[in-house]
Amino acid sequence: MSNKDLTQRRSAATPRGVGVTHTIYAARAENATIWDTDGNEYTDFYGGIAVLNTGHRHPKVEAAVAAQLSKFTHTAYQVMPYESYIHLAERLCGLAPIKGDKKAAFFTTGVEAVENAVKIARAHTGRGGVIAFSGAFHGRTMLGIALTGKVAPYKMHFGAMPGDIYHVPFPNETQDISVADSLKALDLLFKVDIDPNRVAAIIIEPVQGEGGFNIAPKELIVKLRELCDKFGIVLIADEVQTGFGRTGKMFAIEHYGVEPDIITTAKSLGGGMPISGVVGRAEIMDGPAPGGLGGTYAGNPLAVAASHAVMDVMEEEKLLARADDLGKRLVDHLESLRASNPAISNVRGLGSMVAAEFVDPKTGQPDAAAVEKVRLAALEDKLLLITCGVYGNVLRFLYPLTIPDAQFDAALKTLTKAIGTLKQKETA
Ligand code: PMP
Repeated sequence: MSNKDLTQRRSAATPRGVGVTHTIYAARAENATIWDTDGNEYTDFYGGIAVLNTGHRHPKVEAAVAAQLSKFTHTAYQVMPYESYIHLAERLCGLAPIKGDKKAAFFTTGVEAVENAVKIARAHTGRGGVIAFSGAFHGRTMLGIALTGKVAPYKMHFGAMPGDIYHVPFPNETQDISVADSLKALDLLFKVDIDPNRVAAIIIEPVQGEGGFNIAPKELIVKLRELCDKFGIVLIADEVQTGFGRTGKMFAIEHYGVEPDIITTAKSLGGGMPISGVVGRAEIMDGPAPGGLGGTYAGNPLAVAASHAVMDVMEEEKLLARADDLGKRLVDHLESLRASNPAISNVRGLGSMVAAEFVDPKTGQPDAAAVEKVRLAALEDKLLLITCGVYGNVLRFLYPLTIPDAQFDAALKTLTKAIGTLKQKETA
């Protein structure tokens, strides 16, 4: 079935709300390569939106899932538990950059991890308020969109949001928001809207994902920790996108020398299988009563098996160092392109969480159309890219960390050509 035929069937059978970036359809994938139904071969530079740090179908992940497949695929952990889940919790607690006793629980999607982190914080503190940031993305359920700091398209048409959720501005140079501005807004929030002693949690992405790969300044995270300590607020690091090695550390919060109370993780935790986790201080994690946490598929045995393999592969293949190495190479490359292309206003990265921001050189305004042009030019040359940012003017790079060097270098050449199309337009 061709890409064209599938697009027709998709439009007829699925709602427009499930928007798709590409009108090409996956047939097969291996490491950093995807083939479509027309037989075209693409380099994957978006990694299933940060899910494939260990690549498509890593042989060890595939073998682990296959082995589990022939034992059992489902029992409902809450009814009949299994050792692999317990062991994964032990391993995740061992990896989490939080001192003291920790506990972990597993779910299926990133937003479920976020929802459960908030439930845990509320149960532990006996409070309701939750503070999130502008530009944040925390998922698509009702609580997820309420926490998300972007209206279109996430909150549009979906009626009243769950209550007791507040937003403060995330520091952002392009939007002229400093750390001092964010802290002032927080201070005002405590005066205008909610007593800090009624706040259960502050949730923050150390590097905003969908919001534009905006790296939280250290000063902000340090100050949030101080405020949380002062008022007994639970600090939640949402590491659904930043976690599992993307930034050159297992968790991005490790760059800050600050301990959160709870970390949410998903995406690359499962190497392509749907699993998410919440890990945090034991006394906080024990807030909800028995039965208060869980889900029919939460901590599915196949996904748990995949996660064990992902943890092994990350260590064996030294993927944290690889994230740093590839990230530096990409940032250097993008910086060299920026030197001769005024449309690239900013290049930023933490490990392999790298982004390039585009503006209209004449006005200095965010230029989503330019980013789209680059994306389509790259697609033409079989390189898959995705965008992000509140203004949709940021290219983000989430290639598998296992990508072969030659394929990575070839992708950088394609990127050069794709970005070069912007200049051609200007001189034409
Ligand atoms: N939090 C963050 C930081 C994310 O990037 C995402 C997904 N992009 C989510 C939560 C939601 O994850 P999921 O789509 O798996 O529910």
